[in-house]
Amino acid sequence: MSVLVFVETDGGSVKKSSLEAIVYGSKVGEVTVAAMGTISNDELAGLGKYGATKVIHADDTQLDNGVIQATASFIAQAAEKAACNTVVMARSSLVDAIASRVAVKTDSAIVTNIVSVPDTSNGFAVKRGIYTGKAFATVNVNAEKKVLTIAKNAVAVEEVGGGDATVESFSTAYGANDFGVERVSVHKAEGDVLLPEADRVVSAGRGLKGPENWGMIEDLAQTLGAATACSKPVSDMDWRPHHEHVGQTGIKVAPTLYIAVGISGAIQHLAGVNSSKVIVAINKDPEAPFFKAADYGVVGDAFEVVPKLNELLKQN
Ligand code: FAD
Repeated sequence: MSVLVFVETDGGSVKKSSLEAIVYGSKVGEVTVAAMGTISNDELAGLGKYGATKVIHADDTQLDNGVIQATASFIAQAAEKAACNTVVMARSSLVDAIASRVAVKTDSAIVTNIVSVPDTSNGFAVKRGIYTGKAFATVNVNAEKKVLTIAKNAVAVEEVGGGDATVESFSTAYGANDFGVERVSVHKAEGDVLLPEADRVVSAGRGLKGPENWGMIEDLAQTLGAATACSKPVSDMDWRPHHEHVGQTGIKVAPTLYIAVGISGAIQHLAGVNSSKVIVAINKDPEAPFFKAADYGVVGDAFEVVPKLNELLKQN
Protein backbone atom coordinates (compact mmCIF):
# COMPACT_ATOMS: atom_id res chain seq x y z
CA MET A 1 0.00 0.00 0.00
CA SER A 2 1.28 3.50 -0.83
CA VAL A 3 0.77 5.96 2.01
CA LEU A 4 1.03 9.74 1.95
CA VAL A 5 1.80 11.19 5.39
CA PHE A 6 1.17 14.90 5.77
CA VAL A 7 3.57 16.53 8.26
CA GLU A 8 3.37 19.87 10.02
CA THR A 9 6.46 21.89 10.84
CA ASP A 10 7.22 24.34 13.61
CA GLY A 11 10.28 26.57 13.70
CA GLY A 12 12.02 24.56 10.96
CA SER A 13 11.44 21.13 12.53
CA VAL A 14 8.82 18.46 11.97
CA LYS A 15 6.40 18.26 14.90
CA LYS A 16 6.61 15.18 17.14
CA SER A 17 3.01 14.23 16.37
CA SER A 18 3.88 14.24 12.66
CA LEU A 19 6.85 11.92 13.33
CA GLU A 20 4.35 9.60 15.01
CA ALA A 21 2.24 9.76 11.83
CA ILE A 22 5.26 8.75 9.70
CA VAL A 23 5.98 5.78 11.99
CA TYR A 24 2.28 4.89 11.83
CA GLY A 25 2.31 5.15 8.03
CA SER A 26 5.37 2.91 7.78
CA LYS A 27 3.39 0.19 9.59
CA VAL A 28 0.71 0.47 6.88
CA GLY A 29 2.79 0.70 3.69
CA GLU A 30 5.46 2.59 1.79
CA VAL A 31 5.54 6.20 2.97
CA THR A 32 5.80 9.39 0.95
CA VAL A 33 5.76 12.52 3.10
CA ALA A 34 3.98 15.73 2.08
CA ALA A 35 5.63 18.70 3.82
CA MET A 36 5.09 22.40 3.48
CA GLY A 37 6.59 25.60 4.74
CA THR A 38 10.09 26.69 5.60
CA ILE A 39 12.21 23.66 6.47
CA SER A 40 15.65 22.51 5.29
CA ASN A 41 16.23 19.68 2.84
CA ASP A 42 18.48 17.96 5.40
CA GLU A 43 15.70 17.94 7.96
CA LEU A 44 13.30 16.49 5.39
CA ALA A 45 15.79 13.88 4.11
CA GLY A 46 16.31 12.79 7.73
CA LEU A 47 12.68 11.65 7.87
CA GLY A 48 13.99 8.49 6.20
CA LYS A 49 14.99 7.19 9.60
CA TYR A 50 11.33 7.17 10.66
CA GLY A 51 10.29 5.21 7.57
CA ALA A 52 9.77 7.79 4.78
CA THR A 53 11.23 6.90 1.40
CA LYS A 54 10.31 10.12 -0.39
CA VAL A 55 9.33 13.68 0.57
CA ILE A 56 7.25 16.04 -1.54
CA HIS A 57 7.95 19.56 -0.29
CA ALA A 58 5.94 22.65 -1.21
CA ASP A 59 7.27 25.99 0.01
CA ASP A 60 4.38 27.97 -1.41
CA THR A 61 3.72 31.09 0.69
CA GLN A 62 -0.03 30.33 0.86
CA LEU A 63 0.91 27.11 2.64
CA ASP A 64 3.30 28.88 4.99
CA ASN A 65 0.35 31.03 6.00
CA GLY A 66 -1.75 28.08 7.07
CA VAL A 67 -4.69 28.73 4.70
CA ILE A 68 -6.67 25.52 5.12
CA GLN A 69 -8.12 25.37 1.61
CA ALA A 70 -4.62 25.67 0.12
CA THR A 71 -3.24 23.01 2.45
CA ALA A 72 -6.02 20.55 1.63
CA SER A 73 -5.45 21.13 -2.10
CA PHE A 74 -1.72 20.56 -1.72
CA ILE A 75 -2.23 17.25 0.12
CA ALA A 76 -4.73 16.02 -2.50
CA GLN A 77 -2.33 16.95 -5.32
CA ALA A 78 0.62 15.30 -3.54
CA ALA A 79 -1.42 12.09 -3.03
CA GLU A 80 -2.22 12.02 -6.72
CA LYS A 81 1.37 12.75 -7.74
CA ALA A 82 2.76 9.99 -5.50
CA ALA A 83 -0.10 7.60 -6.45
CA CYS A 84 -0.98 7.05 -2.79
CA ASN A 85 -4.38 5.58 -1.94
CA THR A 86 -4.06 6.24 1.80
CA VAL A 87 -3.44 9.60 3.49
CA VAL A 88 -2.32 9.61 7.14
CA MET A 89 -2.23 12.78 9.27
CA ALA A 90 -1.60 13.43 12.97
CA ARG A 91 -4.54 15.20 14.60
CA SER A 92 -4.14 18.94 15.24
CA SER A 93 -6.44 21.92 14.89
CA LEU A 94 -5.23 22.29 11.29
CA VAL A 95 -5.68 18.60 10.46
CA ASP A 96 -9.12 18.50 12.08
CA ALA A 97 -10.07 21.35 9.74
CA ILE A 98 -8.63 19.89 6.54
CA ALA A 99 -9.16 16.12 6.85
CA SER A 100 -12.69 16.01 5.46
CA ARG A 101 -11.71 18.40 2.66
CA VAL A 102 -8.85 16.06 1.71
CA ALA A 103 -11.27 13.10 1.77
CA VAL A 104 -13.66 14.90 -0.61
CA LYS A 105 -10.87 16.00 -2.93
CA THR A 106 -9.37 12.48 -3.11
CA ASP A 107 -12.77 10.69 -3.11
CA SER A 108 -11.75 8.70 -0.03
CA ALA A 109 -13.39 7.21 3.05
CA ILE A 110 -12.37 9.01 6.23
CA VAL A 111 -11.74 7.67 9.75
CA THR A 112 -10.67 10.10 12.46
CA ASN A 113 -9.02 9.93 15.89
CA ILE A 114 -7.44 6.50 15.39
CA VAL A 115 -5.57 5.07 18.37
CA SER A 116 -4.30 1.73 17.02
CA VAL A 117 -2.29 0.41 14.10
CA PRO A 118 -4.60 -1.38 11.64
CA ASP A 119 -5.34 -5.06 12.00
CA THR A 120 -5.11 -6.31 8.42
CA SER A 121 -5.73 -9.99 9.20
CA ASN A 122 -9.29 -9.65 7.94
CA GLY A 123 -9.65 -6.31 6.17
CA PHE A 124 -8.39 -3.03 7.60
CA ALA A 125 -9.68 -2.67 11.16
CA VAL A 126 -8.73 0.31 13.30
CA LYS A 127 -9.71 1.40 16.80
CA ARG A 128 -10.84 5.01 17.24
CA GLY A 129 -11.50 7.04 20.37
CA ILE A 130 -15.11 8.18 20.85
CA TYR A 131 -17.05 10.07 23.55
CA THR A 132 -13.99 12.27 24.19
CA GLY A 133 -11.79 9.25 24.83
CA LYS A 134 -14.10 7.47 27.29
CA ALA A 135 -14.79 4.62 24.84
CA PHE A 136 -13.39 3.05 21.68
CA ALA A 137 -15.01 1.84 18.48
CA THR A 138 -13.45 -0.59 16.02
CA VAL A 139 -14.06 0.33 12.39
CA ASN A 140 -13.33 -1.77 9.33
CA VAL A 141 -12.34 0.46 6.42
CA ASN A 142 -13.50 -1.26 3.24
CA ALA A 143 -12.78 1.58 0.83
CA GLU A 144 -9.66 1.37 -1.28
CA LYS A 145 -8.93 5.08 -0.77
CA LYS A 146 -8.66 6.20 2.83
CA VAL A 147 -7.95 9.34 4.85
CA LEU A 148 -6.91 8.49 8.42
CA THR A 149 -6.28 10.94 11.24
CA ILE A 150 -4.21 9.64 14.15
CA ALA A 151 -4.56 10.58 17.81
CA LYS A 152 -1.44 11.80 19.57
CA ASN A 153 0.54 9.02 21.29
CA ALA A 154 -1.17 6.33 19.13
CA VAL A 155 2.32 5.03 18.34
CA ALA A 156 5.74 5.81 19.79
CA VAL A 157 8.26 7.77 17.75
CA GLU A 158 10.96 5.27 16.85
CA GLU A 159 13.70 5.14 14.30
CA VAL A 160 12.97 2.32 11.89
CA GLY A 161 16.40 2.41 10.32
CA GLY A 162 15.92 3.73 6.77
CA GLY A 163 18.45 5.85 4.87
CA ASP A 164 17.82 9.43 3.76
CA ALA A 165 14.53 10.06 1.99
CA THR A 166 14.67 11.68 -1.43
CA VAL A 167 13.30 15.21 -1.41
CA GLU A 168 11.37 16.60 -4.33
CA SER A 169 10.12 20.18 -4.45
CA PHE A 170 6.57 20.75 -5.55
CA SER A 171 5.02 23.92 -6.86
CA THR A 172 1.33 24.41 -6.21
CA ALA A 173 1.41 27.75 -8.04
CA TYR A 174 -1.47 29.17 -6.04
CA GLY A 175 -2.23 32.85 -6.53
CA ALA A 176 -2.67 35.13 -3.51
CA ASN A 177 -6.46 35.25 -4.01
CA ASP A 178 -7.15 31.72 -5.22
CA PHE A 179 -8.91 30.72 -2.02
CA GLY A 180 -10.52 34.02 -1.05
CA VAL A 181 -8.71 33.94 2.29
CA GLU A 182 -5.43 35.53 3.22
CA ARG A 183 -3.81 35.32 6.64
CA VAL A 184 -2.61 38.80 7.46
CA SER A 185 -0.72 38.25 10.71
CA VAL A 186 -0.06 35.70 13.43
CA HIS A 187 0.27 36.55 17.12
CA LYS A 188 1.91 33.80 19.13
CA ALA A 189 0.93 33.34 22.77
CA GLU A 190 3.60 34.27 25.29
CA GLY A 191 5.81 31.54 26.70
CA ASP A 192 8.50 29.33 25.26
CA VAL A 193 6.48 26.12 25.06
CA LEU A 194 3.20 26.13 23.12
CA LEU A 195 0.54 24.20 25.03
CA PRO A 196 -1.03 22.12 22.21
CA GLU A 197 2.38 20.80 21.17
CA ALA A 198 4.02 20.57 24.60
CA ASP A 199 5.72 17.33 25.55
CA ARG A 200 5.28 18.16 29.25
CA VAL A 201 2.50 20.13 30.90
CA VAL A 202 2.13 21.41 34.47
CA SER A 203 -1.50 22.27 35.08
CA ALA A 204 -3.28 23.68 38.12
CA GLY A 205 -6.82 24.18 39.32
CA ARG A 206 -8.96 25.93 41.87
CA GLY A 207 -7.05 24.17 44.65
CA LEU A 208 -4.37 26.85 44.26
CA LYS A 209 -6.75 29.42 45.83
CA GLY A 210 -5.73 32.42 43.72
CA PRO A 211 -3.61 33.74 40.82
CA GLU A 212 -0.92 34.96 43.21
CA ASN A 213 0.05 31.32 43.89
CA TRP A 214 0.99 30.40 40.32
CA GLY A 215 4.68 31.21 40.83
CA MET A 216 5.41 27.68 42.05
CA ILE A 217 3.60 26.21 39.03
CA GLU A 218 5.64 28.37 36.65
CA ASP A 219 8.86 27.42 38.49
CA LEU A 220 8.07 23.70 38.23
CA ALA A 221 7.18 24.12 34.54
CA GLN A 222 10.45 25.91 33.92
CA THR A 223 12.46 23.16 35.63
CA LEU A 224 10.73 20.55 33.47
CA GLY A 225 10.74 22.58 30.23
CA ALA A 226 6.96 22.28 30.35
CA ALA A 227 4.02 24.43 29.29
CA THR A 228 1.55 25.67 31.90
CA ALA A 229 -2.16 24.92 31.77
CA CYS A 230 -5.23 25.24 34.00
CA SER A 231 -8.77 24.05 34.61
CA LYS A 232 -11.78 25.91 33.22
CA PRO A 233 -12.87 27.72 36.40
CA VAL A 234 -9.35 29.07 36.78
CA SER A 235 -9.46 30.72 33.37
CA ASP A 236 -13.13 31.74 33.85
CA MET A 237 -12.07 33.65 36.98
CA ASP A 238 -9.21 35.25 35.02
CA TRP A 239 -6.59 33.72 37.31
CA ARG A 240 -4.91 32.47 34.14
CA PRO A 241 -5.28 33.35 30.42
CA HIS A 242 -7.99 31.52 28.44
CA HIS A 243 -5.50 29.91 26.08
CA GLU A 244 -4.29 27.79 29.04
CA HIS A 245 -7.70 26.20 29.68
CA VAL A 246 -7.63 22.48 28.90
CA GLY A 247 -10.53 20.06 28.72
CA GLN A 248 -13.65 19.29 26.77
CA THR A 249 -14.33 22.96 26.09
CA GLY A 250 -10.68 24.01 25.99
CA ILE A 251 -7.46 22.80 24.44
CA LYS A 252 -6.89 19.05 24.11
CA VAL A 253 -3.37 18.03 25.10
CA ALA A 254 -1.53 14.73 24.83
CA PRO A 255 1.91 15.29 26.35
CA THR A 256 4.30 12.62 27.55
CA LEU A 257 3.84 14.00 31.09
CA TYR A 258 0.78 15.82 32.51
CA ILE A 259 1.03 17.02 36.12
CA ALA A 260 -2.31 18.11 37.62
CA VAL A 261 -2.07 20.19 40.78
CA GLY A 262 -5.19 20.94 42.83
CA ILE A 263 -7.53 19.83 40.05
CA SER A 264 -10.43 17.58 41.05
CA GLY A 265 -10.49 15.52 37.83
CA ALA A 266 -14.00 16.27 36.56
CA ILE A 267 -14.97 14.32 33.43
CA GLN A 268 -14.92 17.53 31.35
CA HIS A 269 -11.33 18.23 32.39
CA LEU A 270 -10.19 14.64 31.81
CA ALA A 271 -11.69 14.72 28.29
CA GLY A 272 -8.92 17.10 27.26
CA VAL A 273 -6.00 15.35 28.94
CA ASN A 274 -6.70 11.62 29.02
CA SER A 275 -4.51 10.87 25.98
CA SER A 276 -1.44 11.95 27.97
CA LYS A 277 1.13 9.19 28.33
CA VAL A 278 1.84 9.62 32.05
CA ILE A 279 -0.51 11.53 34.37
CA VAL A 280 0.55 12.66 37.85
CA ALA A 281 -2.13 14.05 40.19
CA ILE A 282 -1.32 16.11 43.28
CA ASN A 283 -4.37 16.66 45.48
CA LYS A 284 -4.98 16.92 49.21
CA ASP A 285 -8.24 14.94 48.93
CA PRO A 286 -7.50 11.17 48.66
CA GLU A 287 -10.98 10.73 47.13
CA ALA A 288 -10.35 13.20 44.28
CA PRO A 289 -11.52 11.59 41.00
CA PHE A 290 -8.23 12.52 39.29
CA PHE A 291 -6.48 9.70 41.18
CA LYS A 292 -8.54 7.13 39.20
CA ALA A 293 -7.22 8.54 35.90
CA ALA A 294 -3.65 9.12 37.12
CA ASP A 295 -0.63 6.85 36.74
CA TYR A 296 0.93 8.38 39.85
CA GLY A 297 -0.76 10.23 42.67
CA VAL A 298 0.50 12.33 45.56
CA VAL A 299 -1.99 12.93 48.38
CA GLY A 300 -0.82 16.15 49.93
CA ASP A 301 -1.01 19.90 50.10
CA ALA A 302 0.13 21.44 46.82
CA PHE A 303 1.81 24.28 48.69
CA GLU A 304 4.16 21.75 50.33
CA VAL A 305 4.45 19.12 47.57
CA VAL A 306 5.12 21.33 44.53
CA PRO A 307 8.10 23.31 45.94
CA LYS A 308 9.62 20.07 47.31
CA LEU A 309 9.17 18.29 43.97
CA ASN A 310 10.74 21.23 42.17
CA GLU A 311 13.69 21.25 44.57
CA LEU A 312 14.27 17.52 44.04
CA LEU A 313 14.03 17.82 40.26
CA LYS A 314 16.53 20.69 40.26
CA GLN A 315 19.01 18.54 42.20
CA ASN A 316 18.82 15.72 39.62
P1 FAD B 1 -12.48 22.12 41.90
O1 FAD B 1 -13.52 21.17 41.41
O2 FAD B 1 -12.91 23.16 42.88
O3 FAD B 1 -11.33 21.22 42.52
C1 FAD B 1 -10.25 21.74 43.25
C2 FAD B 1 -9.42 20.57 43.72
O4 FAD B 1 -8.30 21.06 44.41
C3 FAD B 1 -10.15 19.64 44.68
O5 FAD B 1 -10.04 18.29 44.23
C4 FAD B 1 -9.43 19.83 46.02
O6 FAD B 1 -9.35 18.64 46.77
C5 FAD B 1 -8.06 20.24 45.54
N1 FAD B 1 -7.33 21.07 46.49
C6 FAD B 1 -7.80 22.10 47.26
N2 FAD B 1 -6.80 22.66 47.97
C7 FAD B 1 -5.68 21.94 47.70
C8 FAD B 1 -4.34 22.02 48.14
N3 FAD B 1 -3.92 22.95 49.01
N4 FAD B 1 -3.46 21.13 47.65
C9 FAD B 1 -3.84 20.16 46.76
N5 FAD B 1 -5.11 20.03 46.32
C10 FAD B 1 -6.01 20.93 46.77
N6 FAD B 1 -13.46 21.97 33.36
C11 FAD B 1 -12.22 21.96 32.83
O7 FAD B 1 -11.22 21.96 33.53
N7 FAD B 1 -12.08 21.96 31.46
C12 FAD B 1 -13.14 21.98 30.60
O8 FAD B 1 -12.95 22.01 29.39
C13 FAD B 1 -14.45 21.99 31.16
N8 FAD B 1 -15.53 22.00 30.36
C14 FAD B 1 -16.78 21.95 30.94
C15 FAD B 1 -17.90 21.86 30.11
C16 FAD B 1 -19.16 21.77 30.67
C17 FAD B 1 -20.35 21.69 29.77
C18 FAD B 1 -19.30 21.77 32.09
C19 FAD B 1 -20.66 21.66 32.70
C20 FAD B 1 -18.21 21.86 32.89
C21 FAD B 1 -16.92 21.96 32.35
N9 FAD B 1 -15.78 22.03 33.14
C22 FAD B 1 -14.56 22.00 32.57
C23 FAD B 1 -15.87 22.21 34.61
C24 FAD B 1 -15.69 20.91 35.36
O9 FAD B 1 -16.92 20.23 35.48
C25 FAD B 1 -15.15 21.19 36.78
O10 FAD B 1 -16.05 22.05 37.44
C26 FAD B 1 -13.77 21.83 36.79
O11 FAD B 1 -12.87 21.06 36.01
C27 FAD B 1 -13.26 21.90 38.24
O12 FAD B 1 -12.08 22.63 38.26
P2 FAD B 1 -11.01 22.40 39.42
O13 FAD B 1 -10.70 20.96 39.50
O14 FAD B 1 -9.91 23.36 39.19
O15 FAD B 1 -11.79 22.91 40.71
